[in-house]
Amino acid sequence: MGMTILYLGESFKVTSTNKGNTKIDFQHKLIYVHEKNHTSELIKSQLMKVYRQHFIQLLSEEIAIYQPYYRVEINTVRIKKLKSRWGSCSSLGNLNFNLNLMMAPRPIIAYVVVHEMCHLMHMNHSKSFWDAVALKVPDWKRYRSWLRTYGHLLNFDYDIILGEQKC
Ligand SMILES: [Zn+2]
Repeated sequence: MGMTILYLGESFKVTSTNKGNTKIDFQHKLIYVHEKNHTSELIKSQLMKVYRQHFIQLLSEEIAIYQPYYRVEINTVRIKKLKSRWGSCSSLGNLNFNLNLMMAPRPIIAYVVVHEMCHLMHMNHSKSFWDAVALKVPDWKRYRSWLRTYGHLLNFDYDIILGEQKC
């Protein structure tokens, strides 16, 4: 297959197996997908499925870290295929996160979680908003510019296309 994909900021090689479901071997930086899923679209949907499962777990961990500090009311947390944003929120306390974030290093994800959580207190990008973010993520400027520079690399389609060119 010869394709690689980012997982929490690290490059993993996607390879096929004839048994079991999608599996991530962290030690050898390999992601196994079943060989029956041989088309780009099937590989992509298998990868998205496992990324989604891991992302749900990771988001609940990050929220558990920061929610007691900010004391905001969180209603639902959803993972969405957002086109141009990393996260969004509503005044009802619903937080949405872009699945592609699962390709970013974990501190970047933590920054986006805190960013959206702070929007539940400040529905704008005012100084008070950024001051609230800075309380738990003092390096927020670095993370914001990281996303502006590298954000386009966090994309399932991008990686699949790269992989096909290498074959
Ligand atoms: Zn914002």
